[in-house]
Amino acid sequence: MSNVRLIFIRGTLIGVMGLDDVFSEFYDSGRVVDESLRDELLDKVKDENFVPEPLENDYADALIVEYQKDCEKQASGERTGAGQKTYRGIPREEVPWFPTIREDLCDGCKICFDFCPHDVFEWDDNRNLPVVTYPFNCIVGCSACAPRCAPDAIVFPPRSMLEKFKQA
Ligand code: SF4
Ligand code: SF4
Repeated sequence: MSNVRLIFIRGTLIGVMGLDDVFSEFYDSGRVVDESLRDELLDKVKDENFVPEPLENDYADALIVEYQKDCEKQASGERTGAGQKTYRGIPREEVPWFPTIREDLCDGCKICFDFCPHDVFEWDDNRNLPVVTYPFNCIVGCSACAPRCAPDAIVFPPRSMLEKFKQA
């Protein structure tokens, strides 16, 4: 019997079958969050669930957020020392993956701040800009906030940088 997980989709709690297994499969294969993962997650979920076509984008958005949360929980189970998070056994603080804000381009729309579920950003009311106050809360490999920024003010290191950590 497939597991069922309740997730918010367009503000409504919807039961999605088989989600734990899908997430485990992606996580165990070291899959990081990126834009292509949206479609792959959606396809897997559609294997076991009816997803109305007009809601596909909403499902994909919700699935990515849930997957991010799961990755964070998994990572927090791999703690070393005084509660330090790790990525593939490496202290999180040694993996330089986090967003940088190009303040010259940012228009202060606040979309990144509202979107990120991991409290990476604080909001600077005086300058009307996001501040990357907690960079190591960022999920390694996630760049989901960047494509939501219309002026392309959010930049990440090259993804190839993560390869050496995958081999560690
Ligand atoms: S989404 Fe982009 S433009 Fe909007 S506040 Fe964030 S960095 Fe600035
Ligand atoms: S800061 Fe952006 S990339 Fe990092 S976890 Fe939040 S949404 Fe993902």
